[in-house]
Amino acid sequence: MKIDYHMHFEYGSYDEDWVQGFFDAAAKRGIGEIGITEHSHTFPEFQALYYEDLVLDDSFVGSFQQKWLKKNKFKHTLDDYFAFMEKLKAKHAIKTGIEVCNFQDQDKVRDILKGYDFDYIIGSVHFLRGWAYDSSEIKDEWNRHSLEEIYAWYAEEVEKLAASGLYDVLGHPFNIRLFKYLPDFDVTPILERVAKALKKADMAIDVNTGTRYRYPIAEISPYPDFMRVAAKYDLPIITSSDAHQPEDCGNYNEEAVDYVRGFGYTELLRFSHRERERVPLG
Ligand SMILES: [Zn+2]
Ligand SMILES: [Zn+2]
Repeated sequence: MKIDYHMHFEYGSYDEDWVQGFFDAAAKRGIGEIGITEHSHTFPEFQALYYEDLVLDDSFVGSFQQKWLKKNKFKHTLDDYFAFMEKLKAKHAIKTGIEVCNFQDQDKVRDILKGYDFDYIIGSVHFLRGWAYDSSEIKDEWNRHSLEEIYAWYAEEVEKLAASGLYDVLGHPFNIRLFKYLPDFDVTPILERVAKALKKADMAIDVNTGTRYRYPIAEISPYPDFMRVAAKYDLPIITSSDAHQPEDCGNYNEEAVDYVRGFGYTELLRFSHRERERVPLG
């Protein structure tokens, strides 16, 4: 079965005509089921957490992030989202997920999520020490840190997400490669740390083609070195496009399926109400 479990409606609206494009693209690419994973910054319930965690001072990063938080964020409540998804579920093979940023206060996240019947929950590292490292506008910040430091921070953030026990999947593992700042040191201990944390938390990995077509690195995340470690630990997978536009739904899915087969994978996960099932790939 072909599945795409990571995409966003945030550049459109909760309008059935607009989201029809996602279903059309899925059908064209033979995707049998899709899952929507709105960012936590879609929902006002999470707003205070961003203001707690992000660098928002007068620095170059802080000034950008202050503006970022005011642009197209916090525009639908979780109730609005579920009401819209219920309408879609009545007509389509679709699941309700969410992509939650790596907040420092996971107890608050637990409180926000607990009233909602998600099919699955993705936790993604989007911030390192309050810095949105994947934003091209503040890419210069990469030059102010060593890659050793960045890789260590990344592993630490994954460990925190995993330790919370709140998440089914780690979003786009090791997308810290996205701007092609590539380590010249041995990252094996970091890869092992991340895989062990995920294994212990019974988390799957998101094999995400977003970094293949949306970022300079132009490769599927996670990259081969981590895929090998993930396979060794038998971490289950989901496949996804991280589509932000309807036409990108299912983008590079076939390539992702071929890619994971190369590491010995034959199955992927399908979720319903936080229950998982292994289904054949492709
Ligand atoms: Zn993400
Ligand atoms: Zn995403």
